[in-house]
Amino acid sequence: MDRKIINRQKIIIIILFLFVVILGVLLCYFKYQNNNLSETVANQNIEISNMQEFISSIDLSGDEETDLGWELVLVNSTNKIPDDYEFELEYIDSTRLFDSRAVNYLKDMLKDAKKDKITNIWAQSTYRTIELQEALFNEKVDEYKKQGYSETLSKTLTEQSINKPGYSEHNLGLCVDFNNVDNAFEKSKAYEWLMKNAENYGFILRYPEEKADITGVKYEPWHWRYVGVEHAKEMNRLNMCLEEYVEYLLEKNQK
Ligand SMILES: [Zn+2]
Repeated sequence: MDRKIINRQKIIIIILFLFVVILGVLLCYFKYQNNNLSETVANQNIEISNMQEFISSIDLSGDEETDLGWELVLVNSTNKIPDDYEFELEYIDSTRLFDSRAVNYLKDMLKDAKKDKITNIWAQSTYRTIELQEALFNEKVDEYKKQGYSETLSKTLTEQSINKPGYSEHNLGLCVDFNNVDNAFEKSKAYEWLMKNAENYGFILRYPEEKADITGVKYEPWHWRYVGVEHAKEMNRLNMCLEEYVEYLLEKNQK
């Protein structure tokens, strides 16, 4: 046979062989990815249903909620801001707004931190309108959808880091995100100062790492919530997050 034809046959066989190998590798990879994805989703669903069970076990219907006062209004993935909740806003600087009843506590806290030589601390995000919350939420959902997740799953995943509009403390005007809103904040002098002093201004770390299964939100070292000085001190003493503390007070009030 012609040498050229033999060579061509060899090349075709090699190409076919390579094609089969690559196809096999790709198939295995997709199968692995798929398994991983469904496992993650299943785990997340269990986690979510656990925490939702806990959160919805807190009964906030009726007058009980207002009995605890505006400082302790509980807003999370299952507790929307009450429709009749009233508040006024005041500027803490040229652009950011905070609940007018608590704004001076925040201002004093920032001022005193600076007096203690904590120069690298600033309020990044405070009050957000429902519209802005919606925009942030949808942006994150789109990000997940681009990664190939379904609409429903994208929303579920988004809810782990951004609350639905009306379900965020940022819509209340009682919380503040500091600096770059990232985990690096935990290593800062400002964080260290807040951990020691924030309670004196009525602020608590809202989403501690060890309470994530109760708050339903991953650890957020940058997010601080105003609850009033007395409550902040009591919550830290009892080592309770807001969900636990509200339930604890409601039970105490019933007795
Ligand atoms: Zn926040």
